[in-house]
Amino acid sequence: MNDAAHYLDEQKKSTLKKLKEKKENPRVYEIEKNDLLIISRCPVCLSKDLRLLTEVYINGQLNFFSTVTCVSCLFTFRSVSPGLKWFKKCWQIIETAVPEVFNPEVELDRIARYEKYYEAISRYRKTGHLLDVGAAFGTGTNLFREKGFRVEAVEPEINKTNYLRKKWGIKVVADSIETFVRQKRRYDVIIFSACLEHIDNPVTVIKRIKNLLNPNSGLLYLEVPTIWNYVSWSDALYLTHKSNFSKEHLTYLAELGGLEIVEDFFYKPCHVGLLLKPRQNNQNKPKLIRPPKNITDIARLYRKDLPLKKHLPPLNAVIKYSVSHIEQFFQTLNLSDKKMIAPNHWSGFITFSV
Ligand SMILES: [Zn+2]
Repeated sequence: MNDAAHYLDEQKKSTLKKLKEKKENPRVYEIEKNDLLIISRCPVCLSKDLRLLTEVYINGQLNFFSTVTCVSCLFTFRSVSPGLKWFKKCWQIIETAVPEVFNPEVELDRIARYEKYYEAISRYRKTGHLLDVGAAFGTGTNLFREKGFRVEAVEPEINKTNYLRKKWGIKVVADSIETFVRQKRRYDVIIFSACLEHIDNPVTVIKRIKNLLNPNSGLLYLEVPTIWNYVSWSDALYLTHKSNFSKEHLTYLAELGGLEIVEDFFYKPCHVGLLLKPRQNNQNKPKLIRPPKNITDIARLYRKDLPLKKHLPPLNAVIKYSVSHIEQFFQTLNLSDKKMIAPNHWSGFITFSV
């Protein structure tokens, strides 16, 4: 297991431990065709030449989650996935009467990450109006407030929104950056970390986010996990991630959005960060540099650590999973108590038994 996989495994174990401690009964999150978002061309280069990598079905019937890569530019994303409205329904199911932090360990990790963001941003400015997109429980947002920033947040998940408002008194200005990006508001700093990969239409958001920045001195900190360091087989079931970016794609999209890089960062084990500002002069149309990889490399990622010892799906096969229901709205199933069963032939489904 590599560093990133190990780190994610630890995070997952800790989350599952928390669920157990809270003695929550297993839930079933219903899904139907109307909940699905279908994307038929690459959002980055608009090519329709997409290679299907993985599919997930309910009982071999409803295909509710598919991962594809663009043959032309290698952008890897979900061509079929539950849209934001479905997640909002799920979050309502788990809404608690008293908002509380789900996992304090994750919050400690968040504070450490935001300390690093502050260190980078404070080299350019130490005060101002700040927007935290995907603020979660606000531990990071509050850190910037304590350092002297006036802070606001965008957060879609109801338990987190309640916590931001009630615990911290932080103003939540919107539940979706996709709609908020059309507003005429200006910020000195926007933190947009570990969030872009969750959004239904990330390209539209990046193209417009400059409009929310102070045009002369605004700064945007953008961070995502990168595909090469992050993805292994289980990403095929990871419902909350809609896109898997490479640094090349992230850079291209930022340039397309009229932004230029001030500094770039790599945080172990798998995150790339860009500190960006609005470009002042006119630019030529940016060029996408295709990552120095090929489709087979991406197909390999979706086979990495796959717990099927005897035989692995051939690299040109679509890996098809079938589950009886969705019991987690992030990872589809609690995989820690299930065994994976390979099909007799790779046109069939990988299934899971308790
Ligand atoms: Zn493409």
